[in-house]
Amino acid sequence: MKRWNPRREPSKKEQLLLKRLKRTRKLFSFLRLHRHEIFDDRFQRELEQIYRQTGAGSEPNPPAMMCMVLLLQGYMGISDAEAVEMTVVDARWQMVLDCLQAEEPLFSQGALQAFRERLIAMDMDRRLLERTREIAKRTEEFDWKKLPKRLSIAIDSRPLLGAGKVEDTYNLLGHAARKIVECATRLTGCSYKQICMEAGITLLQYKSIKAGLDINWNDPEQKDEALERLVRQVISLHEWLERLQIADEEPLRPYIKAVAQVQQQDLEIGTDGTVKLKRGVAADRRVSIEDEQMRHGRKSKSKRFEGYKEHIAADLDSGLIVACGLTAANRPEDEATEQLAEDMKRQNIRIAELSVDRAYINSELVQSVREARGEILCKPWSGRNNRGEYFVKRDFNIDMRSKTITCPAGHAEYFEPGQAVEFDAEDCSACRLRGQCTHSASGRGRTVQISQDERLQHRLRKLQKTRDGRERLRKRTGIEHRLSHIAARKGPKARYKGIRKNLFDLRRAAAIQNFETIHRSILAKNATYDKKAKAA
Ligand code: SF4
Repeated sequence: MKRWNPRREPSKKEQLLLKRLKRTRKLFSFLRLHRHEIFDDRFQRELEQIYRQTGAGSEPNPPAMMCMVLLLQGYMGISDAEAVEMTVVDARWQMVLDCLQAEEPLFSQGALQAFRERLIAMDMDRRLLERTREIAKRTEEFDWKKLPKRLSIAIDSRPLLGAGKVEDTYNLLGHAARKIVECATRLTGCSYKQICMEAGITLLQYKSIKAGLDINWNDPEQKDEALERLVRQVISLHEWLERLQIADEEPLRPYIKAVAQVQQQDLEIGTDGTVKLKRGVAADRRVSIEDEQMRHGRKSKSKRFEGYKEHIAADLDSGLIVACGLTAANRPEDEATEQLAEDMKRQNIRIAELSVDRAYINSELVQSVREARGEILCKPWSGRNNRGEYFVKRDFNIDMRSKTITCPAGHAEYFEPGQAVEFDAEDCSACRLRGQCTHSASGRGRTVQISQDERLQHRLRKLQKTRDGRERLRKRTGIEHRLSHIAARKGPKARYKGIRKNLFDLRRAAAIQNFETIHRSILAKNATYDKKAKAA
């Protein structure tokens, strides 16, 4: 296989271009000057493993060069088709790809897509992110030796809107049925209209399902009737496919599965054929036909979104992103820590301090860091009654050694983590502070919930009380900056459909960001040298 072997020393034209890249799009110059280090022989050999070395078929483009194209594409945020054009019309791309003066594209759009799929299938996007740390370690100017051996890692997430169209039950069924008919036209050679007539799904002849149903959508009875009509026609379509024995054909299968999924999650079909929308929302409700993995999620109690959550883990001292994870929007945050922990384990990362959001506090990663005597930094739970009307948990004195809790009036009770403590009802009834402490009915004492991780919460609350402690808790803002850079680079909406492809996109963005971090360190170091030289 052809190996990428671009020239090292910049030519005259390249030197001119490098001079122009000092204010904007500076990463082009970093990639040009460091491409031979990023894609050294060892990494190129690893990348070559994504192709079967049988010698059969046409010679692929050098994988290292294609990998560089993916980085440039992520840096510019452009489509595959534009990336192909850039190799001819943009001198910065040509310089980085070592094809200045090229008059023909270096690769086709299909080749770029195929390379990306191979890269994802072999998990080489994860290696690319790991590679950025390896480059940082080698880069003299980055001062790796001064950084601690056990790292301060922070984790955070952001919502990512899915790329698929979000639809209601009527449109989900109609959309899936339309796709089935379109696939059936290719399999049977019949026209779209002919299949709609033969399969008894005439509603698909209209531009949209809702136009075909044509009812007053404010009338619940008409809506129920319309739903029944639509479901009857979808069942009729399925029976037609089975009569033709094509229901199991590959192109139809995902859409038939989608119809079944929508029926199961959203509909109640009675034995007499009556159809009703289920009350409430199914736990793992499919919201799009085009992207089957995106889900409803919440940014806050009142703000909803449909798509995914992107999670990153970054080293707060070096500023490098070390691991990425992606989950559907309805999954709890701690689920992503499994992916992040695995990525960090591959890099032998030992965590001295883990700064997390409260949503991650029950994760196994937090547990394992605590077991390894690492420190957890997180905002503690504020406790109930946080509207300021009543005493909150922090007004009680909790002694973890003796496992006792003492209330503001001086009464003490024993507790066990994970249980609620109830103070003596008689003490509370006679207490002069009762009005500030509890609104429970008379005859009942004040209760305080002691969480399973009370020891940790206790330590965090103590930390929050001191200036030093608050400063340490604020360290976590570093990860928020990293996430906001990712958000600015990628925008609010997913580029791809599905979890795996979007994870690739996140890892690529993280790799680009890491290269920018390394580049900034080099520039800062060079500026210091220049200053010293001038002063001398
Ligand atoms: S109401 Fe009960 S728990 Fe609260 S301060 Fe008085 S005695 Fe203590």
